Amino acid sequence: MRIFAIGRNYVEHIQELNNERPDEPVIFTKPDTAILRNNAPFYHPSFSNDIHHEVELVLRISKEGKNIEEKFASRYYDAIGIGIDFTARDLQQKAKDKGLPWDIAKGFNGSAPISDTFIPVEKFSDVKNINFKLEVNGNLRQQGNTSLMLFPFDYIISYLSKFFTLKTGDLIFTGTPKGVAAVKPGDTLSAYIENEKLLEFQVK
Ligand code: MG
Repeated sequence: MRIFAIGRNYVEHIQELNNERPDEPVIFTKPDTAILRNNAPFYHPSFSNDIHHEVELVLRISKEGKNIEEKFASRYYDAIGIGIDFTARDLQQKAKDKGLPWDIAKGFNGSAPISDTFIPVEKFSDVKNINFKLEVNGNLRQQGNTSLMLFPFDYIISYLSKFFTLKTGDLIFTGTPKGVAAVKPGDTLSAYIENEKLLEFQVK
C-alpha cells in the first residue's frame, strides 16, 4: 500500500507558513514504514528540533483505479480515518530553500500515526462538512472542516489517479488546517472526527 498526502489544502494553514496558494494539489508520499497504529507512542527523532503535528483526515481507497473522473471518484474510497502528518519543519525548510525533495522531512519512521478505526463513508451525512480536531495535552490546537478544503476529496482522487494507479488499501492524507506547532516528549495528542476520539498517543 501507499500513503499519498496533500500539502497546502487549507488557506489559513498556507498563510501561517507563508506559502503560495497552489493551482493544483501539492502531492507527496510517505513509505508504509511511517505508519504508527494501535495508538503506539511516537518517538521524537534526534535529527530534528522542530517536529510539527498536522492533523488530517485520511481516506481509505477501496477500489483500484486510474484516470478516475471526478464525478465517479466517490466510488473509490469507503472510509475516513484521522492521522497526523508529522513534519520535520526544520529539515523541510532546508529542502524548500534549496528546491529539494521533502522525503526525509515527511516520510521518516513513525511520521504517520493513523487511527485504527476508519468511519464508513455512508455514516457521514455530508463529506463536504466534516469537523475534525486535534488536542495536545487536552488543549485544542487544530480544528478543521472539510468545507474549507481548496481541493475536495473527489478532486484529490481524480487528480492523483492521473499520475498514480490507486490501489485498494492506499491511504490519502488530505491536508491540515491552521494551528501546526512543535511537539515535545511528554505530550499527549488526541485526534477527533466530530466528537469521536479516534486516535490518542504519547510523544516520547
Ligand atoms: Mg500535511
